[in-house]
Amino acid sequence: MEKIKFFDTTLRDGEQSPGCSMSANEKLTLAKQLERLGVNTIEAGFAASSPGDFDSVRDIGQQIQNSTVVSLCRASKTDIDSAVEALSDAKNWGIHTFISTSELHMKHKLQMEPKDVKSMAVAAVERAKQSTDNVEFSPEDATRSDPKFLVKVLSDTVRAGATTLNIPDTVGYTTPDEMFELITMLRNEVFNADKVVFSVHCHNDLGLGVANSLAAVRAGARQIECTINGIGERAGNASLEELVMALKTRQEYFGFESDIVTEQLFPSSKLLSQITGVDVQPNKAVVGANAFAHEAGIHQHGVLKNPLTYEIMTPQSVGIKSSNLVMGKHSGRFALGQRIQEMGFDLNDIDLNHIFKEFKRLADLKKQVFDEDIEALVTHGIGKKTDKFILKDLIVTSGTTAIPTATIVMKIDDKVIKKAGFGDGPVDAALNTIKEITGIDCTLTSYVVKAITGGTDAQGEVSVGVEKEGVRITGRGAHTDIVVASALAFLNALNRLEIRTKGHSLATPSQKAALGGV
Ligand code: MN
Repeated sequence: MEKIKFFDTTLRDGEQSPGCSMSANEKLTLAKQLERLGVNTIEAGFAASSPGDFDSVRDIGQQIQNSTVVSLCRASKTDIDSAVEALSDAKNWGIHTFISTSELHMKHKLQMEPKDVKSMAVAAVERAKQSTDNVEFSPEDATRSDPKFLVKVLSDTVRAGATTLNIPDTVGYTTPDEMFELITMLRNEVFNADKVVFSVHCHNDLGLGVANSLAAVRAGARQIECTINGIGERAGNASLEELVMALKTRQEYFGFESDIVTEQLFPSSKLLSQITGVDVQPNKAVVGANAFAHEAGIHQHGVLKNPLTYEIMTPQSVGIKSSNLVMGKHSGRFALGQRIQEMGFDLNDIDLNHIFKEFKRLADLKKQVFDEDIEALVTHGIGKKTDKFILKDLIVTSGTTAIPTATIVMKIDDKVIKKAGFGDGPVDAALNTIKEITGIDCTLTSYVVKAITGGTDAQGEVSVGVEKEGVRITGRGAHTDIVVASALAFLNALNRLEIRTKGHSLATPSQKAALGGV
């Protein structure tokens, strides 16, 4: 059976969605999960967009063994040279270059004549081809481009050495039938079309990203570009988990296999949500909280008798496990480390001593420690080794008549600082005091608290959004006390903000948006 290749762009297109920006460390953690998931290609970023992005693409290229790592490049010599420099030590790598081919984009965005656009595309592919055999070309806004011009540009880039032709529906404008016709036409008209791989990159502005990608596959595309949880510019990209499960569940109809380890779909979705602080909606296909929940009694009865009555796929097949009691206060450090590895994390990324201390504290507080609790400890612990701001102690008083007061003890660069402050509630008092101690002036843009597992002794998980000078960062914290969880979440956001604004910082989402993309 033929295979469909999965090209994941969560770290590039996905990261360009508001509130989803990630630190270099978080990107590497996610890249390793994408490798475990079995994606064929990881688009690690846009090397030329900033020195920080360059370093991040290079690190991912060097640490990933089984997936191919690519960088996006505009059709320019400097972008391509920078990507080549970042990736030339990688095990498997390639270059993805693009330029707009629609009348609208050429005239108003590029302000260039079509013939010059075509020459730039050819020159870019030739340049990339000098350094690697794996060159993908994308005519941005392909679905709104003149089909005749598209054929010319694509034919010339194939002559120049492109090995993959990616057809982006950049603005999510096309429909499944149209996409089918477009790919069919291109496969008939483009020079040496049978010698190259056709790929699609569909956006979800009309909710058709997945449907359009599948139509392209029916017409002969053999690579799909997509993202975990469907994140991406505006309404996002086609969602990887939906595409994978559509192809698998309806294999008798589509007739394709893939290299995706479907049991890693849910862990990948979870990890991305933990890192970005952006959850999927409960009714999200495949990975949403309600995707396998049966409310109606008649359905529940049927599913218990035979799951196939109302389930077309099993929760186990996408890696969803029901909460099971795993550990308690007598479990040791080795057992915890083993459990963390079984959950799919790499122990090298984690300060196990720190996690173990937190685990012991948690086991004292809540007796039953579930997988979800350990997962929260681990994901909240990623990058902790380098934290600048550390919470040492927190005391709050609040009530019906008291003025809410917080006393905070923090460590900043090994210096211990203690301060007290007020607020209109205990959380407000704690956050105000932290702001005063750190001297960071940022705006709180969102605040969400939820329980990680069931029961009144469950940990509360708080996620906060903060904004400073156009950079939006999410922070998360978990604790059985939600005021402590709030303080931890706020500090997590401030620590992430600190990394983002110091040293080789990554380009901001608006800087990246200015460079464009497919
Ligand atoms: Mn895109």
